[in-house]
Amino acid sequence: MAKAPLELNCVVTQMIQISPVNVIIRVVPDDWELPDFKPGQFAVLYLPGSTSRCENSVAEENPSDPDKMIRRAYSIASSSKTKEYIEFYITLVHSGALTPRIFALKVGDKIGLTSKFTGMFTVDKAPKEANIVLVATGTGVAPYISMLRSNILSDTNRKFAVIHGAYNSWDLGYSSELTLLESIAPNFKYLPTISHPQNEPAAWHGNVGFVQKIWQTDALEKAWGEKPTPENTHVFLCGNPYMIDEMVAILENEKFVEHKPKVEGQIHVERW
Ligand SMILES: Cc1cc2nc3c(=O)[nH]c(=O)nc-3n(C[C@H](O)[C@H](O)[C@H](O)COP(=O)(O)OP(=O)(O)OC[C@H]3O[C@@H](n4cnc5c(N)ncnc54)[C@H](O)[C@@H]3O)c2cc1C
Repeated sequence: MAKAPLELNCVVTQMIQISPVNVIIRVVPDDWELPDFKPGQFAVLYLPGSTSRCENSVAEENPSDPDKMIRRAYSIASSSKTKEYIEFYITLVHSGALTPRIFALKVGDKIGLTSKFTGMFTVDKAPKEANIVLVATGTGVAPYISMLRSNILSDTNRKFAVIHGAYNSWDLGYSSELTLLESIAPNFKYLPTISHPQNEPAAWHGNVGFVQKIWQTDALEKAWGEKPTPENTHVFLCGNPYMIDEMVAILENEKFVEHKPKVEGQIHVERW
């Protein structure tokens, strides 16, 4: 392999293929220190246009300039306490510019990472006494994995839940970790759901339908022993824009308010 340009300042140390279109990638800074960040924040990964694309991608409509860096934002999935590496959960956009190049990487390859991490989608935006519901579709679960790995569950006076939606069971990344957490943390409920049960190779006995539907059942009330309301709960939303719009509408109907720079609200949104 040709020597990587100097700007590619990280080395890929893990590529865990969750499904044909979802990968967990760990990168380690090449002789520099990762900055501090808050769980829920994002970083920017980049590769030059000259990087090969993965086999199952489709040709770009406008081919990328081989000499230019392609940069995209990704939510951090690793703990803010981990300084050795940084982890991301990424879905393949077949016609995209960067993801087909990321999916072609192997352990030992180089990738660029900007050294400033940022973002407002952090759990400290909710008051310390509020229960927290983390709603995601697909790779939108990544910022929540960072929050959970950074030990938010140690605050046992509050209740937490993840409602995670995906097409199929094999797309429910981090499900083993979330299931384990649920079994050891009495203040945590994990509610995965799939939208295409007809594709499952074996009978699926879990939740079916969109995350919006799960929110509208009494599953959380049963798990928590109290109904989530704007008075006791803040809701975080990350992932598919249609899910976010529908969830905001459902929540506003229940008197939740979207949190904005000048408005204190109980709905926190990360729009990709
Ligand atoms: C703050 C922030 C955090 C993000 N975190 C993550 C993350 O943790 N994991 C992750 O996978 N992505 C994340 N994204 C999206 C990411 O930045 C890229 O947009 C995505 O990876 C596509 O990049 P691309 O260069 O391959 O495709 P592009 O060439 O940029 O896009 C091609 C087309 O695909 C559409 N597209 C973008 N994302 C998707 C998608 N997921 N599914 C289908 N179509 C899509 C775009 O709207 C565009 O029309 C995040 C975005 C933001 C702004």
